[in-house]
Amino acid sequence: MQYRSPWMTEELDTFRDQFRKFLEKDLAPHAEKWRKQKMVDRSAWLKLGEMGALVPSVPEAYGGLGASFAYDAAIYEDMESIVPDALSGVTVSSGIVAHYILNYGSEEQKQRWLPAMARGELIGGIAMTEPGTGSDLQSVRTTAKLEGDTYVINGQKTFITNGQNADLIIVVARTGGPGAKGLSLIAMETKDNPGFKRGRNLDKIGLHASDTSELFFDNATAPKENVLGGEEGKGFAQLMQQLPQERLIIAVGAVAAMERAVKLTTDYTRERKAFGQPILDFQNTAFTLAERKTEAFIARVFVDFCIERLIAGDLDAVTASMAKWWTTQKQVETVDECLQLHGGYGYMQEYPIGRMFVDARIQKIYGGTNEVMKLLIARSL
Ligand SMILES: Cc1cc2nc3c(=O)[nH]c(=O)nc-3n(C[C@H](O)[C@H](O)[C@H](O)COP(=O)(O)OP(=O)(O)OC[C@H]3O[C@@H](n4cnc5c(N)ncnc54)[C@H](O)[C@@H]3O)c2cc1C
Repeated sequence: MQYRSPWMTEELDTFRDQFRKFLEKDLAPHAEKWRKQKMVDRSAWLKLGEMGALVPSVPEAYGGLGASFAYDAAIYEDMESIVPDALSGVTVSSGIVAHYILNYGSEEQKQRWLPAMARGELIGGIAMTEPGTGSDLQSVRTTAKLEGDTYVINGQKTFITNGQNADLIIVVARTGGPGAKGLSLIAMETKDNPGFKRGRNLDKIGLHASDTSELFFDNATAPKENVLGGEEGKGFAQLMQQLPQERLIIAVGAVAAMERAVKLTTDYTRERKAFGQPILDFQNTAFTLAERKTEAFIARVFVDFCIERLIAGDLDAVTASMAKWWTTQKQVETVDECLQLHGGYGYMQEYPIGRMFVDARIQKIYGGTNEVMKLLIARSL
């Protein structure tokens, strides 16, 4: 049976045909270089911008395509299956940061930042995590104090995607008392901001082309109007409102990765012979792939349901958490078993399954750990 995602359209088919060719020809050949230098070249962002692939669901008035989230989902799926190396940076800047600006920025801020993000000239980051605070976001210690018309920001963040490249960082900072009510999101431009310093581009076990950094704020500044939503104390609520989309984006990547792993492994095991026969003909191989193909299909149908709900504007936090934990758990299991079916070759850098194995692992951790997802789901019991 040929399954087609219900959110696909003929217009999107045409866009994807061109986009996939572009990814294969213009981006994929550079991926190894990006992995070595531990970041994606800025020129790749500009090329993605030319393709209209950076902020498709942002209105045309702000440089986007005025399309629905279906375009974002299609773009992330295609990147995951052709050049996954550039995906995490793009999802953070385009899928997350741009939408904070769109939803909570002033008209002037949207005009200033979104068209530049659409062109790939401005890269965004979001800085929530601190050395002492990850899952427990309410305990953020970084402060932003208003002095005259300027926020003065002090503190430290870590594990920040696009940390080396970001021109605009949404900083989760304490503007008031303890707990969630004291948090605000401050959009901070990094240029000409001497109190802001980028730390190490951290050494990770996977996602080698993605820059992930420590950030230091020692009297960094942002103008008063850069508090998103125009007033203090709304930060935690804004984070909670955006989380379903962020978690769905992770799930979209997970499904594409599962499908890719099953396809790559089916092709490999059909060619590779042992004991005089293709290893796909061993029942263990075929059953493993049959199970994983089934799970990938189930995951796709559920994620398609979530995509449709998001487009309709009613994807709730619990359902998005279900999608995030289950698909990423299945992604990790699938790439592990698919690597096993590659034998020793699966452990070699030259086969994509090995990279997929190390890249998959973070999916269960970032965007809220899978344990936190289960806490959220459990509250709905
Ligand atoms: C490659 C990468 C990119 C990242 N990008 C970003 C980014 O762009 N911006 C950003 O802000 N952050 C980013 N992060 C940080 C990421 O979101 C955090 O690592 C994650 O939220 C977990 O926080 P933590 O590492 O402090 O772990 P902790 O919160 O210390 O958790 C450790 C363990 O305890 C468990 N745990 C914690 N609380 C509970 C509980 N109540 N019940 C049960 N178990 C619990 C967790 O599930 C986990 O297994 C990134 C991390 C990585 C590795």
